Amino acid sequence: MKAQQFVVIGLGRFGASLALELMEKGFEVLGIDHNEERVEEMTDKLTHAVMADATDESVMRSLGVRNLDCGIVAIGDNMERSILTAILLKELGVKMVVAKAISILHGRALEKLGVDRVIFPERDMGIRVAHQLVTPHLLDYIELSKDYKIVELTVPSCMDGKSLAEINTRAKYGCSIIALNREGGIIVAPTAHDYLYAGDIMVVIGSNESIDQFEEEAV
Ligand code: ADP
Repeated sequence: MKAQQFVVIGLGRFGASLALELMEKGFEVLGIDHNEERVEEMTDKLTHAVMADATDESVMRSLGVRNLDCGIVAIGDNMERSILTAILLKELGVKMVVAKAISILHGRALEKLGVDRVIFPERDMGIRVAHQLVTPHLLDYIELSKDYKIVELTVPSCMDGKSLAEINTRAKYGCSIIALNREGGIIVAPTAHDYLYAGDIMVVIGSNESIDQFEEEAV
């Protein structure tokens, strides 16, 4: 079931942008911060923005937080308060609790407490940008596991006008092009008879090794 109502606790840069994006996508968002200015900034932009201490159980109960589908703890300036808030959300029975960790140890503590998803925004963004900087055609990637990933690559001019049969990534490298994104639209599951054009975006799935080899030798 897709979550419909979110509570975002901590309206700093991360929490605020996450909350705004959820609103943009049409979800209901309750934002909580104990900093008056941060709440004021978000008052007109979120379904509700409330000034409160998220570690205060009675306040959280009175806000009806337990009825919401997903709680995001975006407190990055105080590990203790982040942990207390995560515990409280779990105890109140929020179905899905996501928390931002500021260090590995903080992340481990959150996982041990049963937080459903721990995220490391700064670390992950650093890794992502490093990948993009060293791989010129790489637009984005998703790590599927330690060994497998999906990447989005721009089609280089050397592949312009070639069919997937000619590129033959599956036989040559062991990875597959699963979608092509171009101005006219997206081709999902392209066939051997689809053509690549410079500037198109190809979505490739495979082992890290196979994709790295494809990037090095062909792209
Ligand atoms: P970022 O790095 O994403 O900008 P910050 O860590 O600076 O995030 O911001 C965290 C936010 O969480 C701050 O706005 C702070 O006021 C808020 N916050 C911290 N502790 C609590 C708490 N117990 N209850 C509510 N809000 C809190």
